[in-house]
Amino acid sequence: MPRSGTTLAALALTAACAACSGSPAPTAAGQATAASTPSPTAVATPADPPSLAAFVPEAEGFVEAHRGLQFRTQPRVLLLDDAAFRARTGGGGGLDPTLIAEIDALQLVPRSVDLAAAGRQAQSESVVGLYEPPSKTILVRGAAPTPFVREVLVHELTHALQDQWFRIDRPDLDGPGSYERALAFSSLVEGDAIRIEDEYLASLPARERMRARLEEDAATGVRGDVPAALGAILHFSYTAGPTFVRALATVRGQAGVDAAFRTPPATSADILEPQRFLGATVPDARVAVPAAGGPVLDHGAIGEFGLRLLLTHAAATGAVTDADADAAAAAWHGDAYVAWTRPGLACLRDALAAAPGPDHALLQRVLAAYTARASGVTLAEAADTLTLTSCG
Ligand SMILES: [Zn+2]
Repeated sequence: MPRSGTTLAALALTAACAACSGSPAPTAAGQATAASTPSPTAVATPADPPSLAAFVPEAEGFVEAHRGLQFRTQPRVLLLDDAAFRARTGGGGGLDPTLIAEIDALQLVPRSVDLAAAGRQAQSESVVGLYEPPSKTILVRGAAPTPFVREVLVHELTHALQDQWFRIDRPDLDGPGSYERALAFSSLVEGDAIRIEDEYLASLPARERMRARLEEDAATGVRGDVPAALGAILHFSYTAGPTFVRALATVRGQAGVDAAFRTPPATSADILEPQRFLGATVPDARVAVPAAGGPVLDHGAIGEFGLRLLLTHAAATGAVTDADADAAAAAWHGDAYVAWTRPGLACLRDALAAAPGPDHALLQRVLAAYTARASGVTLAEAADTLTLTSCG
C-alpha cells in the first residue's frame, strides 16, 4: 500500500503494507505481464513454477489459523518475476519533497547526501511483496517458492485478511495533521502481519529458516548507502510495530488486536510505549501549531518518534548523552510543528510539551544543551511548552 506520504510522520506509509524485510535476489528477467487483470484466484505468470502457486492455498490456511479469522472472499494473488513486479509497482515512488525538506530542516542527514536518490534506492530494494487495497490484490516478487518468498506471501495474505475484516486503506489518514495517526496505524498493520509472518517462519524446519534469513540478508546488505535517520523513518512501522502488537496480544489476546484495528493507536508514542495505548497513562497535551517564519509547507506533529530521531542525532553529534536523549524523548507529551521554506533553506518549528515537573525540566535541559551546540537551532521557553526552531 505505498502512498504519497508527505511528512516526517507519514513517511513510513510510503512502504506500508509492503514486506520491507529485504528483497530476494533478482530473478531471471521475464515478460512484463504484471498489468494483466488478475483473476479471483492465485495467478502464476508463465515464469513461475507451479509449486509457488500451489503454496498459496496452504499459506491462506496458515494465515487463517494463526490470525484467528477466515477470509471472506478468495484473495487475489499475483506471483511476479522481478521485471514484472517492477513494471507493476514502478519500483518505488521516491521520497516526497516535503519530507526531504523536513529532514533538511532538522539537519538529520548531511546536506551532501542525495536524499531523493537514497529514498529511491531504499524503497525499490525493500519491497518484496505488496498488498494493494484498491484492487484487493497481493503482488509477490519472486518466481521460485523459496522460504523467504513463502514468508513474504504469508505477510501479504495477512494484510488481505486485515483489509477484509477491518479495512486498512484509510485515506482519512493521508491529510495534513493526521501523520502521527497514520504512522501509528501503519505500525499496527505491519506489526500484526510480521507477527503472523514470524509464526510461519518459526513453523519451518531450521534449515529453511536459515535459508530464509540468508536470502533476506543477501538482499538487505546493499542498504549501506541509506542514511540511518532515513532508514529509521522508512522502517519505523516494521521495527516498532511488532513489539507493540506482541505487547497488545499478550495483554488482551487476539480479540485485543482486532479491537485495536477498530480503535487504533493515535501516536508513535502509543507504539513505542504500548502501556500508553493500554490505558496506563494520562492523555497527551493539546499543543497549538506555532507560527511559521515563511510560506507554510506543512504542519502536523513529529511525535515521540520524531523527537527521538532528533535527540538521537543530537547524541551522535556529542551535544547530549545517549541516556539524556533517551529519557527526554520518553518525556514527550504532545507537540505541533509547522514547516516552511525559503530559497536554499528549510525550517521547522516545533512546540513541545512534557508533563509538568521533572519531565518538563528534563526536556528543557536536553533541548537547551542541543541548541547550544547546534547551528541554526534555537529554543524558546514558555510555561508549558518548549519551542524548537531548526533550519538547515
Ligand atoms: Zn506489510
